[in-house]
Amino acid sequence: MPTISAYRAAAGLAALLVTFAAGAATDAEYLKRGERAWKDVRVLADDDMEGRRSGTPGHRRAAEYVAAQFAKAGLQPGGDDGWFQSVGLRSRTIREENSSAALVGPAGERKLTLGTDAIFSLRSNVAPKLEAPLVFAGYGLKLPQYGHDDLAGLDLKGKVVVVFTAAPKSVPGAAGAHFGSATERWKIYREAGALGIVTILNPHSMDLPWERGAQTRFEPVMSLGPPEEDLLAGMRLALTFNPAHAAPLFEGAPRGLDELLAALKDGQPLPRFDLPWRIRTTTDFNTTGVTSDNVIGVLPGSDPRLRAQHVVLSAHLDHLGIAAVTAENEKADRLFNGAMDNASGIALLIDMAKRFKETKARPRRTIVFAAVTAEESGLLGSRAFVSRAKRKQQDVVANLNIDMFLPLFPLKQLVVFGLDESELGADVRAVAGPLGVTVQTDPQPQRNRFIRSDQYSFVRAGIPALALKTGFEPGTPEAALENEWFKKRYHAPADDLGQPVDLASMGKFAALLEKLALRVADRETAPAWTAASAFKKPRQTAE
Ligand SMILES: [Zn+2]
Repeated sequence: MPTISAYRAAAGLAALLVTFAAGAATDAEYLKRGERAWKDVRVLADDDMEGRRSGTPGHRRAAEYVAAQFAKAGLQPGGDDGWFQSVGLRSRTIREENSSAALVGPAGERKLTLGTDAIFSLRSNVAPKLEAPLVFAGYGLKLPQYGHDDLAGLDLKGKVVVVFTAAPKSVPGAAGAHFGSATERWKIYREAGALGIVTILNPHSMDLPWERGAQTRFEPVMSLGPPEEDLLAGMRLALTFNPAHAAPLFEGAPRGLDELLAALKDGQPLPRFDLPWRIRTTTDFNTTGVTSDNVIGVLPGSDPRLRAQHVVLSAHLDHLGIAAVTAENEKADRLFNGAMDNASGIALLIDMAKRFKETKARPRRTIVFAAVTAEESGLLGSRAFVSRAKRKQQDVVANLNIDMFLPLFPLKQLVVFGLDESELGADVRAVAGPLGVTVQTDPQPQRNRFIRSDQYSFVRAGIPALALKTGFEPGTPEAALENEWFKKRYHAPADDLGQPVDLASMGKFAALLEKLALRVADRETAPAWTAASAFKKPRQTAE
């Protein structure tokens, strides 16, 4: 019997042979491909694009650039009347000087410091003034199918629900993410008569330190305008609490914050109870209407039987724009170039369109290239895209989304969000193996990333979807690099063209994605959800 290492060596050799047999490209070819794609990143993440915030001239310039590249690559325009699909948005900006929040208890009022203790969320059309009792609902999840119900026996009527944005260990990660999204939560709380929501961020899984996130509170917040449905309708208050300052909420309550945080860390069940406080808020904000564009290109399918089915490759073009001036950032760089988030993803769409032209690809199904807007504002451009496709009775059978795929080191592993949810998982494995790339599911499901980018707009409509990024083993130098990237560059002006990037990794990622797109477009049958998937529901091809 071979030792483990001899066994590994043999397996490695076999993988190598397969690699050559499949005609995989060399590192030099990957590098060339990556270098070409990065040229588009250079254009899109240039200061000239002003951070590509939805609804700004900078975003429009970037959209025009993408449309020109799609045209050069021989795609057909798939927008309203040309390349652009116009998306109507409501934009809200806080006037914090006229806004306030306080906890009101038997002993009087306890003022909250906005920005430090808590911040208002303006994704819904919140009430200018509100006073209501608070009820703590633990994770706030009602999932009887997993034996979990935080709302059982709890009266939410006329109250504001206080929850941790997390899910217990007993609920699978993907389901926790889906049912823990703001819109799914609000469906349930609204039905139970709640007036609003106070979310306490989970300190054990925050992408950004509180201070960095809080700095963005003066930026405009958007929601979809008509004809799209307002999924947060009726939400009169949305407040996000700094976990480091949430202790006062639990003063005089049956349990204190520290005890709750300890249980939260291990995903243990949490108690629920009425809090001895009411919340009193004044929220003053300015609302305007804005439009921004999705850019849509189409490569028509070649098979008369399958071409009515669409496979959508998506990436978001928008980013965070230029920050409003505050005391803290006055002298600093305030332009969010968004090179990795997500000019790099758009560059892959352009790369693939060009590549399909160069190789004269003839996919059986129609492939749609969607450079969507307003992802950073809550996946709005992709939701508008999906709902329009539905109204036009377009049959979208799959979505492959690229958002911040982070080519920071060589591509040996691939993280796939949604890997176990549909037959697309097997497609990824089939194309990754011959390239010598192993496939892993989300190593940090508590960060909810399957629902945090545009693939989720498709998933919510019953369309199987995946999002892919460069992967790594925990505890390796690669893990440290990625960790460092999040700390220093995620949603920061330092996500710019000056950062290190592994262009061979980018080229190899593009090659993998190209093979995956073609494989999905050429499948015999449209991909189905796996039987155990939390997202399983029939595709909705018409209203
Ligand atoms: Zn982002």
